[in-house]
Amino acid sequence: MIKLDPPDLDAGAFFALCISRVRNLSLKARLASVTPNVIQASTTFEGLAIRVRLYEFVRESVVGGLVTTSEMEAVYTQRMVPKSAPGRAAYDKLMSLARSGKCPLCAQRDASTLDHHLPKAHYPVLAVTPLNLVPSCTDCNKAKLASLPTNAFEETLHPYFDDIDGDRWLFASVQTTAPASLKFIVIPPDHWNAVLVARVHLHFKTLGLADLYAAQGADELLNIRHQLRIFHGSGGAETVRSELMARADSARALRVNGWRVSAFEAFAESDWFCDGGFDAT
Ligand SMILES: [Zn+2]
Repeated sequence: MIKLDPPDLDAGAFFALCISRVRNLSLKARLASVTPNVIQASTTFEGLAIRVRLYEFVRESVVGGLVTTSEMEAVYTQRMVPKSAPGRAAYDKLMSLARSGKCPLCAQRDASTLDHHLPKAHYPVLAVTPLNLVPSCTDCNKAKLASLPTNAFEETLHPYFDDIDGDRWLFASVQTTAPASLKFIVIPPDHWNAVLVARVHLHFKTLGLADLYAAQGADELLNIRHQLRIFHGSGGAETVRSELMARADSARALRVNGWRVSAFEAFAESDWFCDGGFDAT
């Protein structure tokens, strides 16, 4: 997961902007009357997210007893997403938080949508709360749809609040298959608490990152196989190994838990791989 800077958007002002062009006066009045609920929800969300207690966020299907879930969802789908919607500039601003356009959740695919960290179908008051909207790829967005935490261990990682790249936690090992393949696993550092360990495992499993990274690794092997043959021909396994370690170093300089770091390290550490296993078909 890639840490993102939280958005600098005022939840109340943004909600007011989103509903500014609602033509149905009765609906507009009801939406306006729950503005304090939306503001309070954003404050509550932030306080709970910092303490990993979002599971305590109270679900309410009719916001303030006045606005239904589908009406709040429509504020997002009609007043924020369309290109001409009053909230679209904020949508684009949130998307731009994903540096290099990468999905912060899988750190691999392109971000192409906004993910409701707590789903709007269950937490309608958070439908357009900036802190609840995270740029993501469509695969991660779909994979997270059903996530309703009931305790801290079930809270998926939030890129605005969680930062796990200060520690190394992603590793891989070579499988002596034909062709060679990689198995990615989470090995948490000893100083992480049990909640963080569970959350990172949950993140990894929910988003299917082992399979995603294994597929990327398989593709990378196809890309470098010809070069590895040349290195092996000139200097044997040790030349292959030093080339792979150099690539791991280069990838590590970019991001310590990038799948490439683990992949190249695993390749380099495998005697079987370096001594021709890379060419198994
Ligand atoms: Zn993703």
